[in-house]
Amino acid sequence: MNANIHSFESLAALDGEGIRFDVFFTGCPLRCVYCHNPDAWFRSKTDMSAEDVFRKAKRFKPYFKNGGGVTFSGGEPLLNAAFINELAPMLRAEGIGYCLDTSGSVPLTDAVKTAIDGAEMVILDIKFCDPDSYKKYTGGNFDYFMAVGRYCTQKNKRLWLRTVIVPGINDTEENADRCAELVKEFKFERYELLPFHTMAFFKYENLQLPNPLADTPPMDRARLDALSARLQARLAELRP
Ligand code: SF4
Repeated sequence: MNANIHSFESLAALDGEGIRFDVFFTGCPLRCVYCHNPDAWFRSKTDMSAEDVFRKAKRFKPYFKNGGGVTFSGGEPLLNAAFINELAPMLRAEGIGYCLDTSGSVPLTDAVKTAIDGAEMVILDIKFCDPDSYKKYTGGNFDYFMAVGRYCTQKNKRLWLRTVIVPGINDTEENADRCAELVKEFKFERYELLPFHTMAFFKYENLQLPNPLADTPPMDRARLDALSARLQARLAELRP
């Protein structure tokens, strides 16, 4: 089976533990207003087989000590669940684990469940914390990501949560409270708020795409820290 690949990042350190080999798939069912990777919405010229990706990943095995491994990202990696499931046994035979960096924006099919079951960890991006904002600012299905979060909880999967905070859209105390309330039923290790940034604006220009946030400034760090503190305080109340 082949998958369409946007890019790779070797020796990455952000999307999971230890040193990572990131595989970015193309294709995404969402259209987040703040997308930092709109070029991943479209097919690239690179189709690769599971064996091809395995061979590339294996080269970095010496760096995967201390919990490192492969991270499947995108775009939306779970659109390629069957491909991941073909690749996973090859990685496993080499003692290489993988992490899913997903928005959970796909139906919870058997293939998606298998891809989650095989992951060492899932990083779940909670795009927006209420159904109306989710629909308005991503075009996606709120129920899909909730089902993925519940499935990870049911399976005792290691789960990290993340939400991007955008000035003028979700940078409020009320939103921080809503996010805490939303995830109280999930079992997770951490929930991090990330700042909206403008570093990907050039991609919209290159692709000649309208940038819905062209006039939005980067998220203020102090404000983000205050909202993060609010979120953690609410989580501590709700998850004793
Ligand atoms: S899920 Fe990621 S790649 Fe897809 S639109 Fe949102 S930010 Fe962009």
